Amino acid sequence: SGDQGSGDNSFEVEMSCKDGGRVWTEINASPIRDNFSQIIGYIGVTRDSTIRRQKHEKLREQTIRDPLTGLFNRRYLDESLERELSRAKRDGLPLALLMMDIDHFKRLNDTYGHQAGDEVLKRLGDLMTRGARSADLPCRYGGEEFLLVLPNMSLETATERAERWCETFANERIIFGGTILSATVSIGVAAAPGHGTTRDSLIEAADRALYAAKHAGRNRVLVAPSASA
Ligand code: GH3
Ligand code: MG
Ligand code: MG
Repeated sequence: SGDQGSGDNSFEVEMSCKDGGRVWTEINASPIRDNFSQIIGYIGVTRDSTIRRQKHEKLREQTIRDPLTGLFNRRYLDESLERELSRAKRDGLPLALLMMDIDHFKRLNDTYGHQAGDEVLKRLGDLMTRGARSADLPCRYGGEEFLLVLPNMSLETATERAERWCETFANERIIFGGTILSATVSIGVAAAPGHGTTRDSLIEAADRALYAAKHAGRNRVLVAPSASA
């Protein structure tokens, strides 16, 4: 209405249904003009575009998520971490990073099979999804390596959370076929600005802490040494 343009008008509106649900509707309207080119009405077609929208949303999800665990994928995280870091810097807020790796995962695969390993990966993914705040970015960073970006969280709080995750995961029992599986994780913790303010420096610090946790005996959390130390 009120549009004096000559072409077709195509737009989408969300409408409520009698049953209380909502549908996206695509409307294509063309003006009807009189002999003086004045618009005297519209002729239009409306169509339920819910399905098309859902397909679009699903495609978008596929490009940012790991299909096995449902967590964000590495590509998405690499982009988001840059964004989160500049936001943290601008707002003067901390940002913590947890780098997590399943212990002796190759042995678990070799003993119980790849599918059993996948079940363990899924369980860790579930645990991270359930334990995350809405602003957190849990990500499957590599095969059995996970990265968690925790915006507006101090190093101390992040370390406590890492310890809780580490302990909770060690106590999980995963039933696969006739066997009961369990596994542990090692976690490295780093935070901005103390351990760096760039994506690479932070990931490197968390990675080094993870490496140290592995060498210290696994199934534990270690904090990266501070940049000045
Ligand atoms: P560490 O405690 O030092 O981390 O030892 P690790 O055995 O966990 O580490 P390593 O890097 O030697 O082995 C990782 C294994 O993870 C090897 C690889 O086959 C397995 N892996 C990677 N991606 C997947 C996956 O999607 N599913 C399964 N089941 N296994 C995977
Ligand atoms: Mg491992
Ligand atoms: Mg690994």
